Amino acid sequence: MAMDASEETLRRAMADKQAAVDAQGKAVRDLKVSGAAKAEVDAAVEALNALKLEKSSIENQLQAAITGGAGGLSRDAFRQAVVNTLERRLFYIPSFKIYRGVAGLYDYGPPGCAVKANVLAFWRQHFVLEENMLEVDCPCVTPEVVLKASGHVDKFTDLMVKDEKTGTCYRADHLLKDFCKEKLGKDLSMHAEKAAELKNILAVLDDLSAEELGAKIKEYGIVAPDTKNSLSDPYPFNLMFQTSIGPSGLIPGYMRPETAQGIFVNFKDLYYFNGNKLPFAAAQIGQAFRNEISPRQGLLRVREFTLAEIEHFVDPEDKSHPKFGDIAHLEFLMFPRKEQTSGQSAKRMRIGDAVSEGIVNNQTLGYFIGRVYLFLTQLGIDKERLRFRQHLANEMAHYAADCWDAEIECSYGWIECVGIADRSAYDLRAHSEKSGVPLIAHEKFSEPREVEKLVIAPVKKELGLAFKGSQKNVVEALEVMDEKEAMEMKSTLESKGEVEFHVCTLGKVVTIKKNMVTISKEKKKEYQRVFTPSVVEPSFGIGRIIYCLFEHSFYTRPSKAGDEQLNVFRFPPLVAPIKCTVFPLVQNQQYEEVAKRISTSLTVAGISHKIDITGTSIGKRYARTDELGVPLAITVDSTSSVTIRERDSKDQIRASIEDVASVVKEVTDGSSTWPDVLWRFPAHSHVSTDE
Ligand code: AMP
Repeated sequence: MAMDASEETLRRAMADKQAAVDAQGKAVRDLKVSGAAKAEVDAAVEALNALKLEKSSIENQLQAAITGGAGGLSRDAFRQAVVNTLERRLFYIPSFKIYRGVAGLYDYGPPGCAVKANVLAFWRQHFVLEENMLEVDCPCVTPEVVLKASGHVDKFTDLMVKDEKTGTCYRADHLLKDFCKEKLGKDLSMHAEKAAELKNILAVLDDLSAEELGAKIKEYGIVAPDTKNSLSDPYPFNLMFQTSIGPSGLIPGYMRPETAQGIFVNFKDLYYFNGNKLPFAAAQIGQAFRNEISPRQGLLRVREFTLAEIEHFVDPEDKSHPKFGDIAHLEFLMFPRKEQTSGQSAKRMRIGDAVSEGIVNNQTLGYFIGRVYLFLTQLGIDKERLRFRQHLANEMAHYAADCWDAEIECSYGWIECVGIADRSAYDLRAHSEKSGVPLIAHEKFSEPREVEKLVIAPVKKELGLAFKGSQKNVVEALEVMDEKEAMEMKSTLESKGEVEFHVCTLGKVVTIKKNMVTISKEKKKEYQRVFTPSVVEPSFGIGRIIYCLFEHSFYTRPSKAGDEQLNVFRFPPLVAPIKCTVFPLVQNQQYEEVAKRISTSLTVAGISHKIDITGTSIGKRYARTDELGVPLAITVDSTSSVTIRERDSKDQIRASIEDVASVVKEVTDGSSTWPDVLWRFPAHSHVSTDE
C-alpha cells in the first residue's frame, strides 16, 4: 500500500525540520559555551523557537493526515457518544452483564431487536421476495463430516500467540497491526522509508505465514500488551466451537461458523424443487459462531452473530443475469485491485462499465454488487462512506473467480460488512466428493450432439497381478488423467510398449505396460450436459451493518437553552424501532382518552408506536424519542386535532384526529415524503415552550 503523497511529503518535511531544530540547538549551545554576546545568543534562541514552532505546525498537519483529518481523539469521542447512547437506551447490552459479561457476546435490547427485525424484514423483501429465492432454515449444530468437507475443520484458523507467563491469548496479526498503526500514528519523526515499510506490512498482513509473523514480532520487539511479557511463536487456532451430538459423545460436531453449508448440502433437493432449472438462489438467515481469539471492536467482532447468506447457483458457462440491465446504471465507489496495488484511492464507477471492462468478473456478481448497494443505502448507510473493494489475488481462495467486499467506513475504519464472492464450483464439488451424492445440474439439448469422448479403460486383472494391494490407486490415477496426458500415454505405449507413470496417492512412479490399459476416443451422442454449478455468494454480517447504521445515523444538536447536546438517530422510517410516539401535552383525562383513540387507529393501521404519558416536559419527551430515532411524534394538545412533529427538521403540522394514522402511515411506508405532507397540512408554528 503506497503512502498518501501528502503524508509522505509531511514526513519528509518533519525529518528536515527536526534536523534544522537539532542544528540550531547546537548553534545556541556553542554560542553560550563560547561566551558570545547576549544579543547574539538571544537571536539564535529566537530562531530556534521559530523552527520549533514550524515543526509543531507540520506535526499537527501530519497528525491530521494520518487520522484522516478528523483527529484520533474526535473519532474515539464520537464512538463513545454513540456507544453510550446505544447502551443507555438498551439498543444492546453486554451479555451476562451481572456476571461481568463475556467478551464478544452481546444482547439486543428492545429498540435494538426492533431495528434488527426491520433490517431482516427489508432483507427478505429486497432479496428473497424480489428475487424469488428459496429460503431455508438449517440447524446451528453441524456434524463434523460436513465441516470437514467444506475445509473448516482443517483451515478455519487464525494465528495466535500466548503471553509466555500468563497464558493470555492474542491474535498475532492484530498485535503486529496495532504496532504498525501506533508507530505510524504517533511516531511523527519516523522516516518516510520506515513508514512505507510499516504500511507495506499492513497491506500484506493477511498473507503472512506463521513463521513470517513470528519473525516480525521478534524483529519489532512486540510483547504482550497487558503485561509486557514475551510472546510464544504464532500457531493456528481453529475458530469453531466444538461440541458433540448425543449423549455418547461419539458424534463430533461444531456450532456452524456460517450458514452457507446448510444450503450446499441441500442443493439436490432445492434444484429439484426449482424444477431442475438454473439459475436459482437459496437464502438463509441464522446465527453463526466463531470463537474469536480476542474480540475488541464492540459489535463488529463478536463470537455469535446473525448472518444472512445467499447462494446463487449458476451455469459456469453462462454467468449473465437477466436483470443486470436494471442496475447497470448505478454509480458508486469501487476500489478495484489495480487501484489498491498502485496506491490510488477508490473511484466512482458505473457497475455496468465495471462489468463490461472486465473489472468485475461477470454479470451475476455485478448484479449482486448493485443490489447490495441499493440494500445498504436504502437502510440509511451513507453513500460516501460505502465502497466495494475487490479482493487482492492473495486474499482470494484459489478456487474463487472474483470477490468484492462491501466496506463501510465507521469510527473503526473501513469495515467489511458484506462479502460477495464467485466461489466457482468448489463447495458443491467438495460435498459431492465427501458424501458420494452428486450435486450436479443438467442442461438438456434440444438436438442430440455428437461428441468425441476420451475413454480410459484400465485392465484390472493385469493391474492387480502387477500392483497387488496398490491396484486401486493405480486404477484411480489412470482414470483421472486429462486428455493430453492420456493421449501421450497412448502414443508411448504404442511406440515403446510401456511407460513410466507417477501415482500421486502412492508417491512413486510405476511402469504401465501396454496390456494394462486401453485408451481411445469414441464418438458418442449426447442428449444433455452434466456439470457442477458455480455459486455466487453474498454474505451479510447483519450486526456489522446495524452498528455502522447506528454510527451513520447518529448526530447531536444543542438543546433550546443551548446548555446541553441532545442525541438523535436519523433512522429512515424503514429501520426506526418504532414509527411514532404519542404524547398528551399535559396530564389530563381528556387528552389521555384522545391519545388512546389515536393509539387504536395506529394499531389498526399496523404502525408500531408508544404512548408517553409521563408528566415530563414535552421538550424532554421529544429529546427521548429523538434519541431512539423515532421519526414522528404526535402531541395531543386539543380534543379535535393534534400536532405531528418530524424528528430531524422539527417541523410540525396540525392534523385532525381522524387523519393522524393515515398521515403517519404514508410517511413511514414511503408512499409520501414529509415535504409532501408539509405542503398539504397547515404548519403548526406555535412551537412548544420546551422546543
Ligand atoms: P466471512 O465468511 O468471514 O466472509 O464473513 C461473512 C460476514 O460475516 C462478513 O462480511 C462480516 O460482515 C461478518 N462477520 C465475520 N466475522 C464476524 C464477527 N466475528 N463478528 C461479527 N460479524 C462477523
